Amino acid sequence: MKKTFVNKAQLEAIAADYPTPFYLYDEQGIRENARRLNAAFAWNPGFKEYFAVKATPNPQILKILHEEGCGTDCSSLTELIMSDRCGFKGGEIMFSSNDTPAEEFKLAAELGATINLDDITHIDFLKDTIGYIPKKVCCRYNPGGVFTLGESKEGFQVMDNPGDAKYGMTREQISEAYKRMKELGAEEFGIHAFLASNTLSNDYYPALARILFQLAVELKEETGCHITFINLSGGVGVPYKPEQTENDIAVIGEGVRKAYEEVLIPAGMGDVSICTELGRFMLAPYGVLVTRATHEKHTYKEYIGVDACAANLMRPAIYGAYHHITVMGKENEPCDHKYDVTGALCENCDKFAVDRMLPKIDKGDLLVIHDAGAHGHAMGYQYNGRLRSAEILLQSDGSTRLIRRAEVPEDYFATAIWD
Ligand SMILES: *Cc1c(COP(=O)(O)O)cnc(C)c1O
Repeated sequence: MKKTFVNKAQLEAIAADYPTPFYLYDEQGIRENARRLNAAFAWNPGFKEYFAVKATPNPQILKILHEEGCGTDCSSLTELIMSDRCGFKGGEIMFSSNDTPAEEFKLAAELGATINLDDITHIDFLKDTIGYIPKKVCCRYNPGGVFTLGESKEGFQVMDNPGDAKYGMTREQISEAYKRMKELGAEEFGIHAFLASNTLSNDYYPALARILFQLAVELKEETGCHITFINLSGGVGVPYKPEQTENDIAVIGEGVRKAYEEVLIPAGMGDVSICTELGRFMLAPYGVLVTRATHEKHTYKEYIGVDACAANLMRPAIYGAYHHITVMGKENEPCDHKYDVTGALCENCDKFAVDRMLPKIDKGDLLVIHDAGAHGHAMGYQYNGRLRSAEILLQSDGSTRLIRRAEVPEDYFATAIWD
């Protein structure tokens, strides 16, 4: 059974102050998880997590992570501006973008962010844009093909398709890129790769690390470049379904350490720092979408209408993502009703759950939609004139704090030109 970090009485009290729907984040959960990650990689003195801002771009969340020692990973101008305004300093910002406009490279360089180049042509584009190649610079690698892990009768534990992904440079390009950047004055080099998304396996990071460590050894021999950091990017997942097993970050950290000791240390590369750019793993379980049942409809199916919709959380609508639902106060009642849980958009995909077995839902019940803390509010939009909800932080001391107000119609109209 999936646990909620608030009980019904607490949630009703919060809902009395803030109308549903809203996002609720668990500060204590976020902090403890960040500490587990940092402890898992404490063996590597240069380790740093650069939180993928796109997952949860809220200044108060970023500040909590900053206090826990994290930096930010940005991929757009706005995310760079947000990191700067939240107090992240140059070295604490990673800029991992693709299809990058000149003004974004300019701001990244001005802030002193570490720039991660997605394409070989970006070396000269960057030089022409800012006038130089930074002393410390990184390239994104894409090995192509299909990436798999852990084959069993049920299939692969992890399977993703880098060969089909728009990101990164080929093996040949990365050698050429390093040589070119060295010619242009770069002194510290990094390697980055993102091979699989939302992995539920303690083996993903260690397998990726081994690939990147071996590449680092080859590149050092081939180009003489000083490789000082390796960025394992995002992709460590969370169990959206109650029957799935969560990753154990301590085991993952040890797996990466083993690869480090087997590959980098013998090559005399014990000064390499490990970076991560986790988004989902850092936030998804520590944020929920809270909504109220407002409507029941009995036609060819049983529908429960709620006051949130896909504009608040689009993952179920766009890729059929599973998000567990708890009917507050009915945690121990039998799941003997089959429902579609729907929002109000004029789109039939606006369903948080299809044919989901749940306890009997009554109008007025509070529903918690789990694991929405990453790629949740962030992916919100305003279709049908449905507006983005508030975000609320349940603070470590048990009090709540509004960390983003709900949009009002004037926000929606603010960019319109009326005459
Ligand atoms: C989205 C993204 C991440 C974070 O991915 P998660 O799956 O949320 O961990 C990290 N790095 C880059 C470059 C990304 O685009």
